[in-house]
Amino acid sequence: MDLKQYVTIVEDWPKPGIRFKDISTIMDNGPAYKFAVDEIVKYAREVGAEIIVGPEARGFIIGCPVAYALEIGFAPVRKPGKLPREVISADYGLEYGTDTLTMHKDALKPGQKVLIVDDLLATGGTVGATIDLINQLGGEVVGAAFLIELSYLNGRDQLKGYDIRTLIQY
Ligand code: 5GP
Repeated sequence: MDLKQYVTIVEDWPKPGIRFKDISTIMDNGPAYKFAVDEIVKYAREVGAEIIVGPEARGFIIGCPVAYALEIGFAPVRKPGKLPREVISADYGLEYGTDTLTMHKDALKPGQKVLIVDDLLATGGTVGATIDLINQLGGEVVGAAFLIELSYLNGRDQLKGYDIRTLIQY
């Protein structure tokens, strides 16, 4: 299936000059959504994932059905102030300033094989901070899967030495 045809490009959103890749038109198409999730499920099997870690909010949309299909767990990565129990945090650089992501301190078991799942790889800041969190918790990152890769933003530079799977490239 050519998944790319189901992505909607939204010009100048959220800011002028940005061409936002809207995945809601993959999700609202049953066969396209199932195909996308199934491709990542296959990859997760290949790398032997024991748990899925996904950043809010679109990482949940892709990562949770993958975890469900494999009967493995899902651990959320969230912005500060969203998780109810003790958290660890990681900062990452934005164009202007920094942002922070958090995970529950007991979200992973030491040595657990983790697959990171998100909708889109852009600069790699989000996935870089997610790897930092997983490392702090003693998990082993066995791969990272994204529906979409914006290859011109060089997010792979943040993922040197890690196995990556992307389904759609721009
Ligand atoms: P990065 O941290 O790699 O620069 O940006 C990736 C994160 O920003 C992902 O969590 C993703 O959800 C969000 N993101 C950035 N640009 C887009 C876009 O054009 N479309 C979608 N769907 N998400 C985006």
